[in-house]
Amino acid sequence: MKPLGIYIHIPFCVRRCPYCGFYSNACGNDGREEIYEYFKILRKELEFRRKEDEGSHLVDSIYFGGGTPSLAEPGLISEMIDEISSLYDVSDDCEISMEANPGTIAGDHESESYVVAFGAEKAGNYSGVERLRSYRQAGVNRLSLGVQSFDDGVLRTLGRIHSADDARRAFDDSRTAGFDNVSMDLIFGVPGQTTKTWADTIDELASMLPEHVSFYSLQIEEGTRFYKDYKMGDMVPVTDEEDRWMYHSAIQTLRESGYRQYEISNAALPGKECRHNMKYWTFCDYLGIGASASSFMDGVRKTNPGAGYRDFADQGFPESELLEDHVNSGFDNAADYMITGLRLTEGISEADFRSRFGKSVWEIFPDAQDELKEFAADGDIIEENGRLTVTEKGFDISNKILSLFV
Ligand code: SF4
Repeated sequence: MKPLGIYIHIPFCVRRCPYCGFYSNACGNDGREEIYEYFKILRKELEFRRKEDEGSHLVDSIYFGGGTPSLAEPGLISEMIDEISSLYDVSDDCEISMEANPGTIAGDHESESYVVAFGAEKAGNYSGVERLRSYRQAGVNRLSLGVQSFDDGVLRTLGRIHSADDARRAFDDSRTAGFDNVSMDLIFGVPGQTTKTWADTIDELASMLPEHVSFYSLQIEEGTRFYKDYKMGDMVPVTDEEDRWMYHSAIQTLRESGYRQYEISNAALPGKECRHNMKYWTFCDYLGIGASASSFMDGVRKTNPGAGYRDFADQGFPESELLEDHVNSGFDNAADYMITGLRLTEGISEADFRSRFGKSVWEIFPDAQDELKEFAADGDIIEENGRLTVTEKGFDISNKILSLFV
């Protein structure tokens, strides 16, 4: 059976962060009913997709992403996992990840962010540990905490609903609740952030030893408030030199602490790479359920509508309403394989490429070869032992390198 990853998008957040380009809706602490209704639609879509796909798949990763999945009650997450198990074969060691905003799970009833997330009344009814334990019992075995920074000034700039202390508590509580596979997301290159505050954040994270770390350079995306501020000249981004210093210093600190960088923006302790995300970079099938979710199954890319998802569901999920419905040509497949595979530090195997596409990389991309030689001469890419690998230095210009395969 072919392995399959299932992604479930939960498009609700307490409030929108000013830099965020993901599809989600601010629901304050009044979103319970809306989230409950949304899960009903998710279950319908899952059934529909299963009927559509007669193939034989073994689900070995499930990922609840968002948005803020930790706004959904553990019971809803549990029902969704049960629904997947009733429709698909699920492997015994299936990786089940859930993203969590520390502001929704920090285990202190007096925590301001906890009150922001759940309202004063509800905040008194939960302890973070109990809530996390319920997710664990529901079947979630990997928690991805949206920490972003351990500096309160940076968190305020990012408009996060939580403090650095909330993030520390959320991590401690996740351990108490039995999570032995925890990831933390960090953002660097935030306006006003200094190299020192970033180095302190990375040092603190390394001392906590979560199993996995994602570290992203802030992207100023069109349609966000940051973009407007930037265009109006009200925001001064960090310099490229600072941004790159932050990136490489993070890799160095993480390496010294026992992590292995395995993708441009991801590092893990041995054996703790994210199985689900690896599917995106190794050309495996994944099914996306929910508003704005994307799928790649048997060479076909599909993307659900975001804002129009409810109507789309009411109409019975018609193909005509998909934002993307693209049958990959052989060339598209080869290009996707290169563009995603070269993000990995182990790069791509030329033998695997040939066995999948029947030709060598250079037969399919003859124009790229000469330009790649120049990148190789500069130490940005290495071709040896049958593998093509972008170096750490080359990751600084990865967009230029990957564009050779478009
Ligand atoms: S919590 Fe995450 S998904 Fe929600 S607005 Fe902020 S960055 Fe975006």
